[in-house]
Amino acid sequence: MSQPRDYRLHEGTVIDHLPVGSAARALELLGLPREGSITVGINVPSPSQGQKDIVRVEGLFLEKHESDRLALLGEHITVSIVRDGAVAEKTVLDVPDRLLGILACRNPTCITNEEQVQTVFLKQGGFPYHFRCAYCERVSATEA
Ligand SMILES: [Zn+2]
Repeated sequence: MSQPRDYRLHEGTVIDHLPVGSAARALELLGLPREGSITVGINVPSPSQGQKDIVRVEGLFLEKHESDRLALLGEHITVSIVRDGAVAEKTVLDVPDRLLGILACRNPTCITNEEQVQTVFLKQGGFPYHFRCAYCERVSATEA
């Protein structure tokens, strides 16, 4: 009998330090599952956070627009890129002060909903993040 394979990745991405309860939202944002195997840890003990969620996806490498969306789920979310079974690159996701084309404005008469204009939102304060539309000034919560 061989040992069962553990959940370590060969080539893929680990999304770590997700706030508890946000793993499902992270999967949804990324349109997962796609093809590769995925392991999801929920309420995993964390020395720095108490508990956290973690998602490991074989064969997935995030596009910028995907990591930009993930960053909105919490503070200090880390993304590790695994190549050949080892962490090749680790970054802490950062939320920019200006979000371009990521959020949709909830104001139905905003120009961004009436014309083909890229949305621009300005970050207001810290987590949980709120953003002000640069065109109509309406403030949207990211989870709305
Ligand atoms: Zn607007």
